[in-house]
Amino acid sequence: MSLFDAFHPIGAIAVTPQGVQLLQPLCQQMGATLYGPDSLNLQDKTTVVYKSSLKDHIASIWSENRALIFCLATGAVVRLIASLLQDKASDPAIIVIDPQGQYVISLCSGHQGGADQLTQLIAQQLNATPIITGASHGLNLPGIDVLGLPFGWRKGPGDWTGVSHAIACQKTVQVIQEGGSTLWQDHLPQNHPFYFVFPEIGENVTPEAQIWISPTKGRFAKESELPKVQWYPRVLWVGIGCIRGTSQQLIETAINEVCQRYHLATEAIAVITTIDLKADEVGMVQYCQEKQLPLLTYSADVLNSVNVPNPSDIVKQEVGTASVAEASAIYGANSWLNNHNSSLIVPKQVIKANNEAVTIAIAQSSLEYTGREGQLYLVGMGPGSLDQITPAAKTAITQADAIIGYSLYLDLIKPLQRSGQIVESLPITQERKRAQRAIELACWGLTVAVISSGDCGIYGMAGLVLEELQIKRWDGKNPHIEVFPGITALQAAAARVGTPLMHDFCAISLSDLLTPWEVIEKRLEAAAKADFVTAIYNPRSQTRTQQIITAQTIFLKYRDPQTPVALVRCAYRQDEQITLTNLAEMLTHSIDMLTTVLIGNSSTRHYQNWMITPRGYNRSQNL
Ligand code: SAH
Repeated sequence: MSLFDAFHPIGAIAVTPQGVQLLQPLCQQMGATLYGPDSLNLQDKTTVVYKSSLKDHIASIWSENRALIFCLATGAVVRLIASLLQDKASDPAIIVIDPQGQYVISLCSGHQGGADQLTQLIAQQLNATPIITGASHGLNLPGIDVLGLPFGWRKGPGDWTGVSHAIACQKTVQVIQEGGSTLWQDHLPQNHPFYFVFPEIGENVTPEAQIWISPTKGRFAKESELPKVQWYPRVLWVGIGCIRGTSQQLIETAINEVCQRYHLATEAIAVITTIDLKADEVGMVQYCQEKQLPLLTYSADVLNSVNVPNPSDIVKQEVGTASVAEASAIYGANSWLNNHNSSLIVPKQVIKANNEAVTIAIAQSSLEYTGREGQLYLVGMGPGSLDQITPAAKTAITQADAIIGYSLYLDLIKPLQRSGQIVESLPITQERKRAQRAIELACWGLTVAVISSGDCGIYGMAGLVLEELQIKRWDGKNPHIEVFPGITALQAAAARVGTPLMHDFCAISLSDLLTPWEVIEKRLEAAAKADFVTAIYNPRSQTRTQQIITAQTIFLKYRDPQTPVALVRCAYRQDEQITLTNLAEMLTHSIDMLTTVLIGNSSTRHYQNWMITPRGYNRSQNL
């Protein structure tokens, strides 16, 4: 699984040796195919050589790639692709990179083609500046034509360009949302142009465009001149009952007819539900396969426990439950991620043709079905500054639909955020809640990045997330997990003061919130006795002040009072503070929760403001 999977297949084109050199590692990273002209005499096997003209070559790979990356002058790219461009909904993402790798330009298909997002990801890999000129990016708003993609919404009809233009002009845009999650509304910048009241728009507000998010089909007044668009959140759970052997055609006709009768969009269908006896009903299975809809089935016992408006004694006699269509629709919608307040919006309808009959009922779930498998990225963001984050971690952060972390860290990674991302912070003491929330969003189908400072697996969020998943009996696959390591505080602190960790070392956290103090004390004793260089995390909080004093006392039992100690506060952050001291005097300096304490071993020494632990003990210490 690569972070670039969503954009595959990707083709990249270089026409100079410099371009090949720039794109080769990038292509490897992204799993992209690199193409170069025959004339370059390329010896390496990773570049695919083309013999035709560049224009013909591009035409030949145009439709088989979802993204094309050019290391070529922008003007040349424009001329080369001009005749191939058809529609922004289907054209590949077009990206241009200058030969020096300083700029990455999102040229075409920025939203639906994903070029804007891919541009940001590539810029991070190259440490380059992304050039994104779309209005919504500049206004920090989600692109209206990609708004529902994380939630699995289907795009409906509308004047997408007109509405996008109204947003770009910061005109008032009325949003009518009758279904699906409103989470996206909570993460808009302060001066966004959306107006959420329905049906009355305030007296002093005249909408200049409309966005309708609903399973109900277009109810826009015809005479209105406003540009409008519609998204269909997949909230309809269609329960079906039928006699054995009912054709796919009748099932489809029945669904379409009932949807039409109730002004519902078939695009908003989430799931087809029925009784388990019908799991192999050919017409139903074929319909679901063709429409790429899941078919969920329930036992007669389960269905019989559901309260329905139209129970039938005949059905009860036949299959053991008084309702199949209504009961399965209600039960399915209510059990979807435990969102219980679903409602039956279409009571049982019977559609007959010849000898066949189909019964249909529709429930609307409060939470939409995304149809996506979620991802959990457990990301270590390093000690603080952006240049200490690995490119892979940066990519994961930018790529995610949702970012969850502690607000201080979220502030530090603001430049990596993408417009339209859901960013949630919870107070520092609520790590477990944060882990649960991340899992909840990922189980729903979102790609969620959980951010820890330093390394996420060292006193970080990664462990909590995996523990919680285990409690939830996670199957190990869905959501998919990927851990992105980061530079932990002990490495960052060590780098600021020299080479204190050149021999065996250990880390001990003095926080006794989750670990009993006796255990911590035992480990301090053992580390001190065994002459480990020791990095102390969480050394002192406002209420926990005694622990660092006890730690010092323990170390003084085994080590010289002159043993070098470094106090590194906020390493690689703006307010970084470094103090070199020794074991006897360390407590005369300020130590807090943003400090890492590094205690040297018996051979650690200070030299010219550096802290040095010798690599080995065999050689003479007096160099
Ligand atoms: N996951 C983090 C550790 C979290 S525990 C990591 O791998 O670094 C929190 C403790 O880490 C703080 O109390 C402090 O001791 C240390 N710490 C985190 N960031 C730091 C920084 N930038 N400078 C110094 N210490 C830091």
